[in-house]
Amino acid sequence: MHAYTKKIREAAQRLLVEKKVDGVIGFRQGTIPMMSEPVMIRHVDQVDQLVWNSFCGVNLANYLVKRKDRVAVVAKGCDSRNMVLQMQENQFQRNQLYILGAPCHGMVDRRKIWAFLKGREPLQVTENGPELHVSGKGFEEVLRREEYLQDNCRICTHRNPVIYDELLGDLVSEQTGVDRYEDVRRVEAMPPQDKWRYFEELIASCIRCYACRNACPMCYCPTCFVDESRPQWVGKTLDATDTRTFHLLRAFHLAGRCTDCGACERACPMGISVRQFTKKLEKDVKELYGYEAGLVMEGRPPLDTYRPDDPQDFIK
Ligand code: SF4
Ligand code: SF4
Ligand code: SF4
Repeated sequence: MHAYTKKIREAAQRLLVEKKVDGVIGFRQGTIPMMSEPVMIRHVDQVDQLVWNSFCGVNLANYLVKRKDRVAVVAKGCDSRNMVLQMQENQFQRNQLYILGAPCHGMVDRRKIWAFLKGREPLQVTENGPELHVSGKGFEEVLRREEYLQDNCRICTHRNPVIYDELLGDLVSEQTGVDRYEDVRRVEAMPPQDKWRYFEELIASCIRCYACRNACPMCYCPTCFVDESRPQWVGKTLDATDTRTFHLLRAFHLAGRCTDCGACERACPMGISVRQFTKKLEKDVKELYGYEAGLVMEGRPPLDTYRPDDPQDFIK
């Protein structure tokens, strides 16, 4: 059992018995290997459902917007940053949350394991420190966990929660010397026509299921612009123009608000690298304003404030 699992269960039991929270949002084992699913625990006799492992990649901040009750929630570095942003956007109050901070070692990308298995079905996946033990009918493989991390986790520089009420383990060393924007720079260097083709090909297989939007903790408008019918801003078809409009507008709605948590990409059933859109804007906001989303509670994000020395010539 992962050390965090024990700590999460103990904390959940204590917080529920002491009636400090109305529920605990964490993960339980899913019905198939490598799928840990979000769960809300409201009674002490359910706390043993709670687990922690390398497949707890879903961003639990997604379950907090507009809550009226008081909940405990497990938060990795990226999740905690989204919680900061949501509070800055007045979606709930800090005193409604009890944050069980999970210093994070990165989440495993199950698609990379499926690719390695080449069609062999994994029936059991367990962890032993840096190793993943994957077994199925007639095979058993030992994989190095580090080599199967999600792409966003490989370049993550904020693995520790930025806010918490208690920690589930020791803080981890943050990665240094990481080049977060190598892929963005490669696209920036392309001539316009190549850039156009790159993004057209990137989203060519999009089926407009909106899983990327629904998994994102920062996409919480009561009516998304793609669902608005009066006026209808964008068509609902799979036409390239409609699909492109959806992706470009969604990315701009995330400007200065995306924490690169990877939830959108995890959720996409077509395996589309949707972070290619948001990472460009993340890079621009960092270069223009020296700002990374959700790192501190104090102050306002740069795109919802005005300062005379803002590098925005069009305002002056
Ligand atoms: S993005 Fe960072 S904090 Fe979030 S799951 Fe990956 S390594 Fe952990
Ligand atoms: S756009 Fe994707 S990476 Fe950014 S906050 Fe939303 S789900 Fe996370
Ligand atoms: S999750 Fe993937 S397929 Fe669905 S709308 Fe988003 S990019 Fe398109």
